Amino acid sequence: MFPRSFMYPRASSLREAATMLGQLGGEGRALAGGQSLIPLMKLRFANPAHLVDLNFIQDTSYIRVEGDVLRFGPMTRHAEIENSETVMRVPIVHDCAAGIADVQVRNRGTIGGSVAEADPSGDWATTLLTLNTEVRCISARGERTVPLQNFITDAYTTVLASDELVSEIGVKVPPKNSGGCYLAFKRCAPVYASAAVAVQLTMEDGHCRDAAIYLGCVGLTPVKAAAAEGELRGQSLTPEKISRAADAARSAADPQPDMRGSADYKCALVAGLLKRAIDVAARRARGEPVEVSHIYA
Ligand SMILES: Cc1cc2nc3c(=O)[nH]c(=O)nc-3n(C[C@H](O)[C@H](O)[C@H](O)COP(=O)(O)OP(=O)(O)OC[C@H]3O[C@@H](n4cnc5c(N)ncnc54)[C@H](O)[C@@H]3O)c2cc1C
Repeated sequence: MFPRSFMYPRASSLREAATMLGQLGGEGRALAGGQSLIPLMKLRFANPAHLVDLNFIQDTSYIRVEGDVLRFGPMTRHAEIENSETVMRVPIVHDCAAGIADVQVRNRGTIGGSVAEADPSGDWATTLLTLNTEVRCISARGERTVPLQNFITDAYTTVLASDELVSEIGVKVPPKNSGGCYLAFKRCAPVYASAAVAVQLTMEDGHCRDAAIYLGCVGLTPVKAAAAEGELRGQSLTPEKISRAADAARSAADPQPDMRGSADYKCALVAGLLKRAIDVAARRARGEPVEVSHIYA
């Protein structure tokens, strides 16, 4: 199906784009990579009268390190992040970017669009929540910075006003002896995951000093597996401890049954993925260069 007709203004700065959206009063939508918005428009689930194109705005696609913060421009494509040497400092970010859909989607889709979309099956929010992540937002009224855990409020819902845009995503580089891993189970590359886990550990003298665990695709927003984190903190990562964390994560998951599987099946996936992800994260924290890719049915 073709989308309904729409006007197509191009903005020359993020502030101008936000101003245009404000003037359009809810009739406009920002266009980033179009990898979520255009399919929705073709299905006529989204029918904006104006698409404000962000693609020609200078200096919105970048990966920079400033002090201990990795900064991503909102229009940075998944593929740029996947192929960035800088990002290898935080391997879980590379895992996420490299596993999104197929190369076509990764070449167009953006980190800013993904975070703003807040799709419960999207990979970025689950990954970035295990890190200390802040979302910079801009509107004609000014700028503000929102911690990612306060940014997404529900499925497809964020704190962004209709005339506000994501202008940058800042990720604190984890301390020494840290390692992370993002793993998903997928039916094939160009579909969203059936279930996913993100784990970020900091180790000290063979013990887990800190743990952050989020589950993806098993709730309306990424699910924080606090009890699973508690099973690991202060512990040496024995198979028993890891099994207990996996059981706790399985209990935290709250999936809906759908074409990707039953709720029980997705809970079982979470437990299996978490065991593998903890192993990889702990090895990376010890300095081992471990490569992972998503698991396919
Ligand atoms: C076949 C297919 C498979 C996919 N599989 C996956 C997958 O496995 N995992 C995954 O995570 N994603 C997947 N995606 C989605 C993909 O990652 C998109 O890139 C992502 O959803 C964001 O889209 P985009 O950058 O193209 O933004 P758009 O589609 O252009 O925009 C998405 C929404 O965000 C808004 N927006 C865009 N930029 C901003 C901004 N800077 N500030 C505020 N609002 C903004 C738009 O107005 C729109 O509402 C898939 C997409 C397709 C087509």
